[in-house]
Amino acid sequence: MATEPERDCPLCPRLVAFRETWRAAEPTWHNAPVPTFGSLDAGLLVVGLAPGVRGANRTGRPFTGDYAGDLLYRTLLDFGFATGTYDARPDDGLTLVDAAITNAVRCVPPENKPTTVEIKTCRPFLIDTIAAMPKLTVILSLGKIAHDSVITTLGLKRSAMPFGHAAAYDLDAGPALVSSYHCSRYNTNTGRLTEPMFRAVFEAIRARLPAQG
Ligand code: URA
Repeated sequence: MATEPERDCPLCPRLVAFRETWRAAEPTWHNAPVPTFGSLDAGLLVVGLAPGVRGANRTGRPFTGDYAGDLLYRTLLDFGFATGTYDARPDDGLTLVDAAITNAVRCVPPENKPTTVEIKTCRPFLIDTIAAMPKLTVILSLGKIAHDSVITTLGLKRSAMPFGHAAAYDLDAGPALVSSYHCSRYNTNTGRLTEPMFRAVFEAIRARLPAQG
């Protein structure tokens, strides 16, 4: 089982070329596939799209240093899915609680836009990550691309489970699927996603995954 691509993963030529450009320009950055953050024993898996170039691609932790991470980590902290302080650095000491965060595509794509082929090529790592989570109860997909990739990963029909903000699907077997508009700068700046809307999604998640202890 390969839950993580190797550091020099060769599978997507366009993403390899982009990575090489950034390795040359910023040799101190992570500039490699960004691994899942958190324990595979978690009940919640948050699935983002792909690392941001100056965020997760720089720091090596999903959503860390990305504008989108400010809202995501604040909300995870508020709902008890994280403890500590989020300071946009991988050594800020923040710990996830019963949660893990990954991306549908593990390498940074130009202009935040992975191609259909890249999403498909990276999917085996998502498949293996989900398969390696025995206590997985809820998958939260951020944005339509992540949602669709999760549906395909689980062998389900996209037409039966369309993406929508706060859409939730309870399956007979396997984790519940919850989706949200992506917490990107664009979506929050345009008001497509407000903080109360994002919090409502986490309320729905907490209803399915009560806090332990
Ligand atoms: N950073 C990530 O790691 N994933 C996203 O989807 C956006 C920013």
